[in-house]
This record gives sequence, C-alpha cells and structure tokens, in this order.
Amino acid sequence: MAEIKVLPGIIADKIAAGEVAERPSAVVKELVENSIDAGATKISVEILSGGIKYISVEDNGKGIKKDEIETAFLRHATSKLREIEDLEKIRTMGFRGEALASISAVASVEVISKTADAPSGTYMKVERGIAQPKEDIACNNGTIMVVENLFENVPARMKFLKKDSTEAGYISDVVSRIAMAHPEIMIKMTVDGKELFSTNGDGDIKNVVLNVYGIDYAKALIEVDYKEGPVHITGVIGKPEIARGNRARQTIFVNKRYIKNYGVAKVAEEAYRNAVMVGKFPFFVLNIDLPSELVDVNVHPAKTEVKFANEKELMEAVYHSVKNALFKDTTPEKVQEKKVEEVKSEPENNTVQFRMNFKSNFKREEAPRKEIENLLSYTVREETAEEKSEKDFEEILEIVEEKEPEIPVKLVGQLFDTYILYEQGEKFFLLDQHAGHERLRFEKLKEDYLNKRRFGQVLMIPVVMNVTLSEMEIIKEYGEYFDRMGFEIEEFGNDGIVIRQTPIITDDNEIKSLVSEIVTAFDEKKKMAFADREEAALDMISCKYAIKANQKLTSYEMEDLILRVNEVKDKGITTCPHGRPIQVEYTKTEIEKMFKRIV
Ligand code: ADP
Ligand code: MG
Repeated sequence: MAEIKVLPGIIADKIAAGEVAERPSAVVKELVENSIDAGATKISVEILSGGIKYISVEDNGKGIKKDEIETAFLRHATSKLREIEDLEKIRTMGFRGEALASISAVASVEVISKTADAPSGTYMKVERGIAQPKEDIACNNGTIMVVENLFENVPARMKFLKKDSTEAGYISDVVSRIAMAHPEIMIKMTVDGKELFSTNGDGDIKNVVLNVYGIDYAKALIEVDYKEGPVHITGVIGKPEIARGNRARQTIFVNKRYIKNYGVAKVAEEAYRNAVMVGKFPFFVLNIDLPSELVDVNVHPAKTEVKFANEKELMEAVYHSVKNALFKDTTPEKVQEKKVEEVKSEPENNTVQFRMNFKSNFKREEAPRKEIENLLSYTVREETAEEKSEKDFEEILEIVEEKEPEIPVKLVGQLFDTYILYEQGEKFFLLDQHAGHERLRFEKLKEDYLNKRRFGQVLMIPVVMNVTLSEMEIIKEYGEYFDRMGFEIEEFGNDGIVIRQTPIITDDNEIKSLVSEIVTAFDEKKKMAFADREEAALDMISCKYAIKANQKLTSYEMEDLILRVNEVKDKGITTCPHGRPIQVEYTKTEIEKMFKRIV
C-alpha cells in the first residue's frame, strides 16, 4: 500500500493552488473521488440540509492506516505520489493532497477508517484543522468521512450558499454524474433521510441511467464505443426524443473524471444536428479515455475544466463517436427515414434542404404533418422562422383573395395606461389591453397545447420550490399536462420540485405562484370536466404572461393588439378567458347624442 507523503515544495508550487471546498457539492465530489481512488466498490453518500449541516461518505475501500490518518489531513499530503516522475499523472488526476486539508479547515470532520490488515479501526476528529487524539474503534474495512457544519467559521462563504434544497440538488447532480462514470461501483445517494437513487454496480451504464434518471431515459439510449488514434470514447447517448431544454443531463468524463468542457458538449450536439430542434439539448454520457499527457485537468481549482493537447483530433473523435452511434440506431428499412438520412449527410446547407424535403413529402403524400415529424424525430417542436413566414404568406394570400377590404383603424391613443382608444369607420372603441392580450395568449396557448406543441422557455436558473406531499402527488399525476403546458418539472428530494422550464411568462417571481395556482386548479376543480381544468390552467398561464394594466404601450404594440383582438372577434370571441369584455364600442351617433349634437 502506498504511504501518504507530503508533496515536495516544488511540486506543491507547480500545482495551482485553489479552493477545493467551494460549496457542499465540491466537498462531496472530493470525498467520493477519494473513495474511488481507494478502490471502493460500494459508496454511500448521505446529506442533511443541503450538505451544510451534514455530509457523510462511506466506502469499502482500502482504508487509511492508523499512523497515517493525521498526515492525510495535511496540506499537500497525498498517498498518490511515489516519485517525482509521477507529477504528470498527479496533474492529470488532480491529486493535490489538498482536499482533506481544505475541508477540515472550514468544517468539523470525523474520520473512521480501517485497513484490511488492521485488527481494529481508527476514529479521529479534526476540528477546524486541528486533529484531536485518535481512538480505536470497531468498524468495517473502509472509510467513513463525516463533515459537519460546513463554513460555520467562514461567514463570508456561507453567504454565497444557496438554499439547502438547491445545494442538495448540486450534490445529487455531482454524485449521479460520478455514478455514471463508474457503473462498476454501487453508489447510493440519500438526501434528508430519503434515498434519492442507488446504482447496482453491475457495470452497465444503462442501469445507472435507469436508476438515476428513470425509465424514460433508460429506454432511449444508444451505446457509444469509438476508437480513433489514442482516443477511446465510450458511454451512452440519448435518442433525440429525450433531448431537453438545457444541458443539465449532459455528462462528459475524461479518464472517468467528470469535467466541464463546452467545446466537447458543443461538438457532440453538432452530431445531432437536424435530429434535435434548436433550443433542445441531447442527452449524453461520454467518457473520453486518452493518455494522461494529452490532458491537463488542473486549469481549474475544482478540476472540472480541462485543456486538451490535440484538441482538433479529440473533437473529431467526439463528433464521429456520436454521429456513428446515432447513425447505427436509425433503421434503414423505412424509405422516408433513408431520405432524411441522405439529406442529413449533405455537407452544406442541410437545414434548408432538409426542410425542402420535409415539405415536398408533406405536399406529395398528404401525410399528416405530425406523422412525418415523428418519423424525423422532431417529436414536438416549434415553428421555424421559415415555416412561420410561409404561413404568414399563405394568410396574406388568403386575405388578398377572399376578404373584403377592411375599414382602416385609426389609433387614438392610450387611456390611463390601460385602455387603447381607436376609431374604425363610424365607431369608437375602448379596448382593455390586459383582457385583450390575455385572450390572445389563451387562444395561442390552447392551440399549441391541443397540438402538443410545447411553448416553454428554459430558465437560466432553475427554480426550486417546496411542495407538500399532496401537491407533489398532483404534480406527478398531471405530469404530462404540465409538460404539455411547457413546464419541465422534476421531483427534488422528498418535498421539493425543480422547475427548469416554464411557459413563457414575463416575471420570474411569478413562477412559483403560477405552479401552485395550477396545482390548486387541478385539485380543487376535481368536479369539473378535465378539459375545463386544463382550460383553467391555461388561463392562469395566459393571465401571467399578458400585458398588464398600467403599462405604457407603443403605438406599434397598440396597433398590433387591436388587429389581433379583432381577428379573434371575427371568430366570435369577445371576452377575456374570465368572461370580462375585451372592448366596448360607441357609434359616432351615440357619442353625438351624448353631446346633444343630435337628439
Ligand atoms: P488526494 O486525494 O489529492 O491525495 P486528499 O486530501 O483528498 O488528497 O486525500 C489525502 C489522502 O488521504 C489521500 O491521498 C489518501 O491516501 C487518503 N484518503 C482520503 N480519503 C480516503 C479514503 N476514502 N480511503 C482511503 N484513503 C483516503
Ligand atoms: Mg482527493
């Protein structure tokens, strides 16, 4: 067994210094990586209050010898160095002997550890960097690290921490990614007493995805195994239908260590081009194995950013690994799919050609658009700019061909920043801007909803919200409907949800109230027909999104609103979804009567 040695000064200096214990998730990452380095096949992570109160990482690894326990907590103490030649390797793996030293400086740490050859284990507590006397203790082979009251003595750092539930989310994210890099290790994650996931250690990454992300993801995986020169890429990628509105479920490892690298992610996404709509990000877990001299992980203190030596070759390998896996997965029998594949592989302007192909299929075979969309894996997608302008053009044609010339509208102005005044022919109108816009939103949302077109926006910062158990049940029960309304909501621990995507609403502060209003609507209105409940939910969304009263509008905005309100009026809709009138009108005669111009 390698002894723990203090790194010689030169090496210590060469290795960039940096805070390891940035936040609870960084602490967990370091501890779990230590367990992996110790050869553990079973690791259990438990946290309370977002890891700020309590973190425990237990492993069945090789343990720490009794007389080396203090050394492990010294700065630049690492057992993962034998000779100076190891420096390259140390840099690669990020062994800096810093983690335990840094963590124990900002928390209270207890360690229980036993090596296989020792008759008993050792217990030691390190309080703010000061090691307390060791004690013998009966325990299993392996190590338990318990970190309590993190940053209690560093109020400045404490201030930067997010809510417990958010920190817990970061931690489970880190642990789930590590679990995916190590399908051969059984990893269990427990948050506030509730098991979040556990993997079975059978070496199959698909099972890890199943346990961590659930069956929908597990069902839609394609395996990747690709070699090019010194690079070996393995892992799984998701079929286009499980692409999501953000990159939270893209994971990249280099030599099994989780890293962040925008370039790699981008290239992998590029391989999905035309298979996933713009704004959606494919799912993938990729491990890039490459010789340690070709990579430098120490460019970032948390060791999550890396630099590659042969970047171009690496990117090409990533691209091909994903592309090949995707290609392998497409069934060649279906003629239409083949066609798409051909067009897809056109090097230039493929987007445009693809669309043309799409369109001609549509025209010639009169197939329902949705079916073709499904074939093309464009399961649910928004109208593209081109399609929109095409539609607009068709609408214009229709108007030109069929409709009577409209009587021109003359905008008068805005009253109390709430009502739009305009005249049309012999009539004067007062339009309630909120009611009008709400109706327009409602109609659009409903149409999208019924056509299963999602209308969400990805949140820059996901919103974590506490919910009661019964609310959670409703959210789960109506998960599909939330989905279709444009939400992307995930369960989060026992009593929380993470909202990653919302329908387009203006104010972030309204997200939580919107979700709880919808939950209430689904719940309270149980007696109503389901369709009515859906309408009630859509109504709430449109209300949040709509232009408010007391909001100044430009002439352009007013004219646009007038025009569109009159379009729905032509369909016989004259009220907002709550039944208030959108506009009131006076004829010229009525006004003249008011002023006694006529009798
Ligand atoms: P590094 O991982 O860079 O070596 P750390 O501060 O994370 O530095 O750990 C210091 C040393 O403590 C490790 O090199 C290792 O010898 C020992 N150690 C830490 N955690 C464990 C563990 N779970 N099992 C066995 N040894 C451990
Ligand atoms: Mg370490």
